Amino acid sequence: MAGNRTFTMIKPDATKNGHIGAILNHINKAGFKIVAMKYTRLSSEKAGEFYAVHKERPFYGELVEFMSSGPIVAAILEKDNAVEDFRKTIGATNPAEAEAGTIRALYATSIGENAVHGSDSDENAKIESDFHFAGTEIFG
Ligand code: GDP
Repeated sequence: MAGNRTFTMIKPDATKNGHIGAILNHINKAGFKIVAMKYTRLSSEKAGEFYAVHKERPFYGELVEFMSSGPIVAAILEKDNAVEDFRKTIGATNPAEAEAGTIRALYATSIGENAVHGSDSDENAKIESDFHFAGTEIFG
C-alpha cells in the first residue's frame, strides 16, 4: 500500500524569488497537510549528503552549490498516496516539460533551479524526512 507522507523542499531560487507563500498555498490547495516545516539553509556538506545518490551525475557540483546558496523551506506533507500525488503536483524535473499548472511550470527557472523537491519513493520520503526533522518536530 502507498504511504501517506512525502518530503519537500522549496529550493533557493523560489525562496529568493518570493514564491514561498504561493507554493505553500498551492500545496495546501492540492490537499496536502503540512505536518512538519522549517526555514533553514543547508551547508554545502549537508546538501552534498542529501543529494549523495547523484554524486556521479555531471551536475552534482552545480546542484550542491545551488542548494546551499540560500535558504530553503523543508516540510513533511501528508495525504493519501502522498509521494505519487506530490510528484504530479510539482511536475517534470525540467520546467519546460512540466504540465501547465504544476508548481514547477509556474515557479521554476530551469532544470537545475526548479523551485521544489519531492521525494521519489516512500522509502526516500522517510529517509529525507529523518534527515531534516526530529520526531518531536513532526505533528501528524
Ligand atoms: P527530481 O526527482 O525531479 O528532482 O529530479 P532528479 O532526481 O533527476 O534530479 C535531482 C535534482 O537535480 C533536480 O531536481 C534538479 O534540481 C537537479 N538536476 C537534474 N538534472 C539537472 C541538470 O541537467 N542540470 C542541473 N544543473 N541540475 C539538474
